[in-house]
Amino acid sequence: MVFENAQKQLEKAKKHVKLVQETEEMLKYPVEAFTFSIPVRMDNGSLKVFEGHRVRYNDARGPTKGGIRYHPGVTLDEVKALAFWMTIKCAVINIPYGGGKGGITVDPHKLSKAELERLSRGWMRKAYRIVGPDRDIPAPDVYTTGQIMAWMMDEYSILRGEYCPGVITGKPLSLGGSLGRSYATALGGYYCVKEAVQKIEVGKKVVIQGFGNAGAHMARLLSGDGFKVIAVSDSKGGAYLEEGFDYDKLMQVKEKDKRVDAYPGCKKMSNEELLEIGCDILVLAALENVVTKENADKIKAKMIVELANGPVTPEADDILHKNGKFLIPDILANSGGVCVSYFEWVQNKQGYYWKEDEVNAKLEEKMIKEFNATFDIHNEKKVDMRTAAYVLALGRIDEATKDKALY
Ligand code: NAD
Repeated sequence: MVFENAQKQLEKAKKHVKLVQETEEMLKYPVEAFTFSIPVRMDNGSLKVFEGHRVRYNDARGPTKGGIRYHPGVTLDEVKALAFWMTIKCAVINIPYGGGKGGITVDPHKLSKAELERLSRGWMRKAYRIVGPDRDIPAPDVYTTGQIMAWMMDEYSILRGEYCPGVITGKPLSLGGSLGRSYATALGGYYCVKEAVQKIEVGKKVVIQGFGNAGAHMARLLSGDGFKVIAVSDSKGGAYLEEGFDYDKLMQVKEKDKRVDAYPGCKKMSNEELLEIGCDILVLAALENVVTKENADKIKAKMIVELANGPVTPEADDILHKNGKFLIPDILANSGGVCVSYFEWVQNKQGYYWKEDEVNAKLEEKMIKEFNATFDIHNEKKVDMRTAAYVLALGRIDEATKDKALY
C-alpha cells in the first residue's frame, strides 16, 4: 500500500516535469537493499534471531538519510517505499541528502531494556558496512528513540575505533544531539501554516488528529499564536470544545489520565467524527490512510496539514483537490524533522553546537523558502501542492543525476 501510493504520486507528478532517462531509470530501483539476521541473547538465556533491513534508495544528491522503524509489520518492501519517500522529502526541503530507511521486524514493547540494547547494537553490527557519516545516516522512526540512537552511535564508534556522532541523528543532547530537534517536525509544519494563511483566506479554528509528539507541539504552537484548537484526539478517542482548549490544561489532562477526552466539559467523539468537524484547518498527526475516498467528501476544513506520513490516499487527494481544499503535503509539512536532523549532522561534523534560537531561525528560513517554491509551482502549473512538491524534488534529483553523468 505504502509503495503503491508513493508510485501513484510519482506517476502523477511525472506528467508535469521533464526528466532525463537516467533519472527515471534510477528512481525505479533502490541503490542498495539489505536484509540481515540479528542474533540476540535473550534474558532467559536463549538465542533469538530477528530480521533487520536497510535500504539506500537514491544517492544522487548526497549520502542517504532516513529513520529506523521497529514494528512487527516491517518488511523489506515497506522499507524500500519509505526510503523512496525520504529521497523526495530531502529534495523538497533541499538538504544535501538522498533517501534511505531501515527497520527491524519486532514488537519492541515485548523486549526488556537490556534485550532492546542488544538488538539495537546488533542491528548496527550488521548495518555497519552500509551506514556511515558520509554514506548513509539513520535516525529515529516509529518506536525508536534517542536512547536507541545513542546505543547505535556507540556501537558504530566502537567498531570504527573513533567517536562518530555524525553517523546517526536524533541522539540525546549529551551525545551530540541538536537543540530544537524534539519539536522540529511540528515547528516546520507551523511555519508552513503561517505562510499558507497569508495566501489562502482561512479562519482560525483548528482540529488536530493525533496528540503525540508532532500533534501536541503543533497544538502548543498554534494555540500560542491566536489559533483556536477546538478538537484533538489520540488512540483512545477525540475531544471537542467549542470555545477552544487551553493547551497547558490539555497537557495536564493527557499526562494524568493518558487520554485527551478526559478534558473537563469536552464532548467526546470518535476519530472518524473528528475528521468531519466544521473547522478551518485540519492537522493530521497520527496515522497513514485516514482520509480515503469514503470520507474525503465529508472533510469541511479548507486547509489540511499532513504532519503524519501518508494520511491521505491518492484517491482522496483527487477528491480534496476537486473540492477546492488546500493541502500541505507530508513531504513538505513534516520535513522540519529531517531538516533539523541535517542541522544535527552539520553540528557533529563541525564539533560546534548552535543555540536553540539559531537552529529554529535556520529551520524557519528553509521552510519558508521551500513552501514558497512549492506554492509557485502549484500556481504556475495549476497542480495540487503535493504534485508541486514532487515536481520541485524531481527537478532537483534530475539536475544532480545529469551533472554526475555517471555510468
Ligand atoms: P507519536 O507516537 O508521538 O504520536 C502519535 C499519536 O497518534 C498519539 O497521540 C496516538 O495516541 C495517536 N494515535 C494512534 N492511533 C490513533 C488512531 N487510531 N486515531 C487517532 N490517533 C491515534 O508519534 P509522532 O512522532 O507524533 O508521529 C505522528 C506522525 O507523524 C507519524 O505518522 C509519524 O511518522 C509522523 N512524523 C513524525 C515525525 C517526528 O519527528 N515526530 C517526523 C516526521 C513524520
